[in-house]
Amino acid sequence: MLALVFDGKVRLRSDYPAPKVARGEALVGVRVAGVCSTDLEVTKGYMGFSGVMGHEFVGQVIEGPSAWKQKRVVAEINCVCGRCDMCRSGLSNHCRDRTVIGIAGRDGVFAEQVAIPAANLHEVPPAVSDEQAVFAEPLAAAYQVTRQVKFQQSDAVVVLGDGRLGQLVARVLRSLVRRLMLVGKHAAKLEMAEKQGIQTAAVEEFVPRADADVVVEATGSPRGLELALRTVRPRGVIVLKSTFATSEGLNLSPAVVAEVTVIGSRCGPLEVALGALASGEVDVSALVSRRYPLARAAEALRAAGEPENVKVLIDVQ
Ligand SMILES: [Zn+2]
Ligand SMILES: [Zn+2]
Repeated sequence: MLALVFDGKVRLRSDYPAPKVARGEALVGVRVAGVCSTDLEVTKGYMGFSGVMGHEFVGQVIEGPSAWKQKRVVAEINCVCGRCDMCRSGLSNHCRDRTVIGIAGRDGVFAEQVAIPAANLHEVPPAVSDEQAVFAEPLAAAYQVTRQVKFQQSDAVVVLGDGRLGQLVARVLRSLVRRLMLVGKHAAKLEMAEKQGIQTAAVEEFVPRADADVVVEATGSPRGLELALRTVRPRGVIVLKSTFATSEGLNLSPAVVAEVTVIGSRCGPLEVALGALASGEVDVSALVSRRYPLARAAEALRAAGEPENVKVLIDVQ
């Protein structure tokens, strides 16, 4: 089958073997996939991954447990053991023995077909289009912030980063807090958020005053945390959403001095994200910048790395 593979180099392969479907798994035909910053980090060596890239998708079950046949689905990306201490304590996203679709130890979705544990599947409601459903995984990651921080209406919240994830986080928080500010580098991207009623500031004009109750760092840059530390108030909360293949020298003393709570935040509730897409609570329509067929998936990766693009999609079927 056709697949975009990373094996130290990004390669489009037309002879990639079709997935072997293990017990409890479903064979899913990919319809549309989305490129995420994590995919770009994978090409720089993040997680030492090799195999079919990609984890954001909507597809249709071809083969598997009868309850799932022909269903249009999205999926949890963490494939877990169900037996370790994390799984048994309800933290299966942190399974000690997990593989992660297209990120760690398991082939991903930039391919015609992918094998996924049936337990990971979520049916997509009819009201949600393929183009919306492909946002379910990153939108769930945005909702994860609301599970980790108990927001008060009166909180002053700053989201750093106007890219894919920052846009989604700001859309999720918009109805929860009265004072919300999205800080970014790109006028066109900030305007997308403004159109959703979100207040924005260009990073060069933004003056951090150490007065935000909560700062969500979604810049995708190691320097984002530095800015977050200058933006958050003493005893405030910083939520970190960026993952990197590289690390830079980082001074955490400001976090100590201001007694800041720093929370790492990753995957979130897919059912909540699908519900928000179905109800229209979160509008993702304007976020798709470019679409490429699978045969041009390498170009899609390059496009996703260009600052003017927000979401880049890959059409598979
Ligand atoms: Zn992602
Ligand atoms: Zn486990």
